[in-house]
Amino acid sequence: MNHPWISKRMEYFDSSGIRKVFDLAASMTDPINLSIGQPDFAVPEPVQEAAVRAMHDGKNGYTPTQGIGPLREALQDCVESQYNHARRQVFVTSGTSGGLVLAMMALVDPGDEVIVFDPYFVMYPSLVGLVGGKSVVVDTYPDFRIDLEKVAAAITPRTKAVLFNSPGNPTGVTASEEEIRGLAQLTAERNIALVSDEIYSHYCYDEPFLSPAKFNPQTIVIDGFSKSHAVTGWRLGYAHGPAEIIQQMIKLQQYTFVCAPQPAQWAALAALKIDTTPQIDAYRKKRDRVVAALGEDYELVTPGGAFYAYPKAPWGSGDQFVLKAIENKLLIIPGHIFSDHDTHFRISYAASDETIERGLEVLKRIAHERD
Ligand code: PMP
Repeated sequence: MNHPWISKRMEYFDSSGIRKVFDLAASMTDPINLSIGQPDFAVPEPVQEAAVRAMHDGKNGYTPTQGIGPLREALQDCVESQYNHARRQVFVTSGTSGGLVLAMMALVDPGDEVIVFDPYFVMYPSLVGLVGGKSVVVDTYPDFRIDLEKVAAAITPRTKAVLFNSPGNPTGVTASEEEIRGLAQLTAERNIALVSDEIYSHYCYDEPFLSPAKFNPQTIVIDGFSKSHAVTGWRLGYAHGPAEIIQQMIKLQQYTFVCAPQPAQWAALAALKIDTTPQIDAYRKKRDRVVAALGEDYELVTPGGAFYAYPKAPWGSGDQFVLKAIENKLLIIPGHIFSDHDTHFRISYAASDETIERGLEVLKRIAHERD
């Protein structure tokens, strides 16, 4: 990548790892694909119908930057009934990714530090780098719990924000009330922005979802419909937080993403009325099956949410083990994509039960099969 036109910031983006797995998937016949982070169920019918209806009704143009009025009002009502914060405002973003980009751009100056937890969602360190910030990594191995003392020790005068994600990608681990409350209080006391990526909030299997916004009214929440309603391609998210910050994010959206796709925004209104309990119940069963099947041969922290499991490689590095899996047609993602460690791997069980069973069979077989 030494073309003279390419900016230095491109150094922060290395998508080669995940792309390698996706390229392999495309070249293999009948791979067992447990690498993809998107739900495998159909978009609920009323949501599809609302999108089609919007298109037929000519709702295809730009919308106000902050989203169509009815959706914004419905989201604002939801947020107010949950938190009742005087100055909490919501707007519609172009996916959760869009919301994260806007939050980082609105908050981080060159040289500012942003605390991220390792393992992290693949995008976080790159986004921090994009805006000239520095990621400060707080390790959560081996149990993927947040040690508040480590977070406190990582804070410096340059710390601007903490990026938090529970249920988490890639571990599926759900932070406890104690961790969430502690992090909320610590960031409030130290006057640091807490950005909470809540894209997996629907996927909580053991306990109801809990947001740090409950304990810290200044929390900036980034959420979206991609995972909750299986519409990853629609690019539909929303963000809420203190009005002053949200206003800045809306201003940036005007000059970048412009608005979220209009038909998808009308469909989101229908999505808000859908009960996704049956889908979540099905995913809980998948989670239980994966945990039960891998328990014997793998060190695995039971995931409480999302649709990922993050076992430790039983031999070799995470990368070596994933190569072996791929030789057996099983596509999974090596942990170093999400981490400074190369010891684990990520399974996505957002797949049919049949695919999951085939994948588990391979994992059982290769657990003791180094060569
Ligand atoms: N945050 C996390 C933790 C994710 O896993 C993902 C998607 N893989 C996103 C954000 C981005 O989601 P969206 O499709 O809404 O941009």
